[in-house]
Amino acid sequence: MGFRSNQEGVLEDIRIERRRQDEKWGPDRELSDPHWLTILMEEVGEVAMTLLDEPEKGHPACLTNKELIQVAAVVVAWMESRAVQGEGAAAWVHDDDRVAFLAAYNKTFDAAMRVERKRK
Ligand SMILES: [Mg+2]
Repeated sequence: MGFRSNQEGVLEDIRIERRRQDEKWGPDRELSDPHWLTILMEEVGEVAMTLLDEPEKGHPACLTNKELIQVAAVVVAWMESRAVQGEGAAAWVHDDDRVAFLAAYNKTFDAAMRVERKRK
C-alpha cells in the first residue's frame, strides 16, 4: 500500500481502511464507548510498537503510516457508531454548539501550528 502525503490523499487512505474494516468486521458495529476505546488504544499501541520495538521488521515508516491510518479509521468508525446511537453528531443540542466547538478547536490548532513554525 502506498501512502499519500497530501490531506486528500491521507483522507482517501482512511476511507480505504474504513471499507476494509467494514469488510472484515461488518458495517454495523454499534459498540459501547469503552469497547471502542479499547480498540483505539490497541491500535495506538501498534503505532508505538512500530516506533519503539519493531524497526527490524521492514519499513518502519510504512508500518507507522499503516497503523496511523488504522487509528484514524477506528476514530471515524467510533464517531459513526456514536452518531447511529444518537451520541455523536446527533447529540449536538444546537448547530451553534457544534460551530463553537469547531471554532475553539481550530483556534487551538492554529495556535499550536504557530508555535511549531516558530520552533523551526
Ligand atoms: Mg493496527
